[in-house]
Amino acid sequence: MEYLCPLCNGLDQPEVRCRRCGEIMENCGAIQEYYDDYSPYLDMHVTRMIDGVSGDQCLHVFFCKGCNGIRSVAVNLVEY
Ligand SMILES: [Zn+2]
Ligand SMILES: [Zn+2]
Repeated sequence: MEYLCPLCNGLDQPEVRCRRCGEIMENCGAIQEYYDDYSPYLDMHVTRMIDGVSGDQCLHVFFCKGCNGIRSVAVNLVEY
């Protein structure tokens, strides 16, 4: 048995809507990918939140084209 993130593995594509403008947000990938490539902009929003994520969740960054907002969403891993 293995725990996989459905988003990282292309198994699921949840519909995340922007809290500000209601647009469907775009999945920009797992947050770990952003740590390799240091981005001060994302860092501000996100580093505070990453501590609250438990080990069985994958944190994803979603981007809103409507208002250029970003949001991090904790995705529960699923058993395979
Ligand atoms: Zn993931
Ligand atoms: Zn928006």
